[in-house]
Amino acid sequence: MNEVVLHAEVLVLGGGPGGYSAAFRAADLGKQVVLVERFPVLGGVCLNVGCIPSKALLHAAQIIHEADEFAEHGVTFDKPTINIDKIRAWKESITKSLNTGLAGLVKQRKVTLINGLGKFTSANTVDIETAEGIKTIRFDQAIIAAGSRPTKIPVFPHDDPRLWDSTDALQLAEIPKKLLIVGGGIIGLEMATVYHAMGSEISVVELMDQIIPGCDKDLVTPLARRIKKQYKNIWLETKVTSIEAQEEGLKVSFEGKNAPESELFDAVLVAVGRRPNGLLIGAEFAGITVNEQGFITVDKQQRTNVNHIFAIGDIVGNPMLAHKAVHEGKVAAEVTAGHKAHFDALTIPSVAYTDPEIAWMGLTENQAKQQGIEYDKAVFPWAASGRSLCLGRKEGLTKILCEKETGKLLGAGMVGTNAGELISEAVLALEMGADAEDISLTIHPHPTLAETFGFAAEMITGTITDLYIKK
Ligand code: NAD
Repeated sequence: MNEVVLHAEVLVLGGGPGGYSAAFRAADLGKQVVLVERFPVLGGVCLNVGCIPSKALLHAAQIIHEADEFAEHGVTFDKPTINIDKIRAWKESITKSLNTGLAGLVKQRKVTLINGLGKFTSANTVDIETAEGIKTIRFDQAIIAAGSRPTKIPVFPHDDPRLWDSTDALQLAEIPKKLLIVGGGIIGLEMATVYHAMGSEISVVELMDQIIPGCDKDLVTPLARRIKKQYKNIWLETKVTSIEAQEEGLKVSFEGKNAPESELFDAVLVAVGRRPNGLLIGAEFAGITVNEQGFITVDKQQRTNVNHIFAIGDIVGNPMLAHKAVHEGKVAAEVTAGHKAHFDALTIPSVAYTDPEIAWMGLTENQAKQQGIEYDKAVFPWAASGRSLCLGRKEGLTKILCEKETGKLLGAGMVGTNAGELISEAVLALEMGADAEDISLTIHPHPTLAETFGFAAEMITGTITDLYIKK
């Protein structure tokens, strides 16, 4: 028989950004919290094998490119020497320092952390497989934050070390000469940016008719143009039908509109989305409804069909983004403490940290068209931004969509250097109910990339002087 070792007022299952934020918020609100994490460190996919390590590698890629491209403007560096062991060690040191920070926050808040794989055994108990054996925890309320995992294509040879998922790609174990990326979404293109800079020859195969299919085409075009010159192939409307492990490489066969002949690659990264972990946590023993894909349905308070059990993050639905999980985690924690909190954010921004970066929020133009919403649109070209030109780049764009009748901001997107940083202003403007006039009358410092958002608004209000727009 398992010994009941612990009681938790709030049990949080999963220690990624959503889970640790929920645990910390609940503790700050006076709850006695047990946080369960299957890995020895906190931070989940985002910190250990996702957002953070990828951004470290992308920064290295940016330095390599900038140094190379500045030759055109009079500063020439020698060809870089790439020491992947050192880059990997640097990347790991960043993760480790944040892991250590989180461990400190757990102690400061007196959260009990248990490392082991947890599964529900009833609506009030979880069993945790720890190094010392099974531990049972009885809880009053629970928050499920058990995340997602990479989607696998069953017929591919998954035991071959040359077939990668995003975790493998982030290991930076080697730089393959020829790398195929299956899936032209965010993970695929971020990893393409990294490995291209490190010297791999990149091919991308994407099922849909554009890369990053969820984003408006005009925002994707500057990236598509740039990588068309850099990468060996970008096959759109094409998919992989088989991957055969041969001694000299992985032999890949394709099907679709632009399908090439089968070809050998030194490594293949599969980045075709992620699957929620809802079917792996014993949810049925707690009576929690999980759909066949593994998503758990929740209400605006993050409550599942079981009144005292909440769920947040990737496991409750798309978009699978850390910043969404964190906000949902705080809502769930506040509700466990009796607050009347709701998840009522107007938008969740998306960023592809490619080069150039692409960021968007609110309504996309595709959605506005599909929903028959009347809008005014402005697109400010960064070729007219002094700051962008000083960075040696001119392909960027800032687009805003405003409600036709009221001028209220509906959506915005940016492509260009640091677009991922710039989008936050648009998110704040949307949350505050700003209209084009509010944005155009907000004094943006000059010269900055941020002022392109103000210029786009001035294009809507008709007050722009930095461009000439014929009446
Ligand atoms: P994704 O959904 O962004 O992209 C997957 C791509 O693969 C899509 O373009 C899809 O059309 C394509 N695809 C699907 N099946 C295919 C097939 N058989 N052959 C060829 N192409 C195929 O998924 P992802 O890039 O794997 O990322 C997974 C999740 O992680 C997403 O929710 C993403 O938002 C998140 N993520 C976010 C960031 C970020 O915020 N910067 C970074 C990495 C991952």
